[in-house]
Amino acid sequence: MIKTRIISAFIITAFCFLWTLPAMAVDKDGKFILVIDAGHGGKDPGAVNGKNQEKSINLNVALKMGKLIEENCKDVKVIYTRKTDVFVELYKRADIANKAGADMFISVHTNSAKSKSANGAETYLLGVEENRASANLNAALEENKAILLENDYEAHYEGYDPNSPESMIIFEFMQNEYQKESLKMATFTQERMVKSAKRPDRGVHQAGYLVLWKSTMPSILIELGFISNDAECKYLVSQKGVDEMGQSLYEAFRDYLDYHNKLVEKAVPTAQAIGNKGADRELPVYKVQFMSIRNPLKKNDKRLKAYDNVDYYTEGGMCKYTCGDTTDFEAVQKTKKEVQKKYKDAFVIAVYEGRKISVREAQEISAKNK
Ligand SMILES: [Zn+2]
Repeated sequence: MIKTRIISAFIITAFCFLWTLPAMAVDKDGKFILVIDAGHGGKDPGAVNGKNQEKSINLNVALKMGKLIEENCKDVKVIYTRKTDVFVELYKRADIANKAGADMFISVHTNSAKSKSANGAETYLLGVEENRASANLNAALEENKAILLENDYEAHYEGYDPNSPESMIIFEFMQNEYQKESLKMATFTQERMVKSAKRPDRGVHQAGYLVLWKSTMPSILIELGFISNDAECKYLVSQKGVDEMGQSLYEAFRDYLDYHNKLVEKAVPTAQAIGNKGADRELPVYKVQFMSIRNPLKKNDKRLKAYDNVDYYTEGGMCKYTCGDTTDFEAVQKTKKEVQKKYKDAFVIAVYEGRKISVREAQEISAKNK
C-alpha cells in the first residue's frame, strides 16, 4: 500500500495526514476477491474465424486460469461473470464485481483484425493513449459493440453510442482511481503471456473499454491473441494453447498477489482523525473527489473556492481534489450530484481512522455504529 499525504487546501486547517491506499475490499473471510470475466457468450460469439468463436476461447482460458487460482491460492475467492455459454450484459459484468466488492477484475478477450497477419497478445487498462489512439480506439470500439445485443443499452451507458467513435471522448477526462494497480496487473500479465506462453508481445496499452469503465476496482482487459490469424487461432483453440494461456494468466495473478500482499504488510495505518473539524470522528467521513491533476492548484485558484471544504491528497503522483466533509451518506450524494454538474466523473470517497477505505466498508461501519 502506498503512503500518501493529504494536505488541506485551506490555510486555517493546516493539518497533514497520512493515508494508506488503496483501500482493500475484503470479504467476510478476509479473502482477496478476484472476478474473472470471460468476454462475450450466448448470442454474442465475439470475433469469429470459420467455426471458431471468440467466446469459447475466452471461456476456456478464463476457466483454466480460475481453476489454477482456486487450487493454489487459498486466500483468494474467485467469482466468474459466466462459467457457461450464456449472454451477460457488459454493465452486469461490472456490477457483479462491484457488488462483490472485488479487489481485481480481469476481462479475457480475443482480438481480431482485417489483416490476417496481425498476431500477438496485448493487455489494456482504461484510459486514452495519445500516440496509439486510433489502433486502440478501434479495438475498444469493436469490443464495446457487444452492447448492441443488449435489450436496453441506452439506459446503462450514460449516452455512450457504440456506433460513434466520437462517443469515446467520455473516456478522455476520466480519472481512474485504480490506475496504478491496474497498470501493475497489466504489466505482470503481459510479461507472463510473453515469457511463459511465448506469445508475440504487443505491449500494455490504454483504451476506453466500457466493461472497465463500469467497474470500481483495479481492472484489466486481456486480448489473448488474434482469432483472425489462422496459426494463432489454431493455437488458441488447442488444449495446449488453453493450458499455456491459462497458466500464464495464473502466474501473472500470483505476481500481483505477491506485490499486493507486500504492500499490505508495509502499510501502517495512522490513527489520526481526518476532517476539518479536527476532533475524533467515530464515523467514516465521506467526501467527493472531483479532480485529479499533476500539480497542486495555486492558492488563489478559483476552483478551491468553488465548493465547501476543498482538500487534496496525493496518490500515484497525482493531486486529487475533494470537497464536502460529512458522515452522512445521503448528504454526500447530494454534494456529488451538485459537483457532477461541472465534473461529470466526480465520485464519493470515504475516510476512516486516517485511512481511505472503500465506500462499501464505510457504510458497513456507519451501520454498525448507529
Ligand atoms: Zn472480445
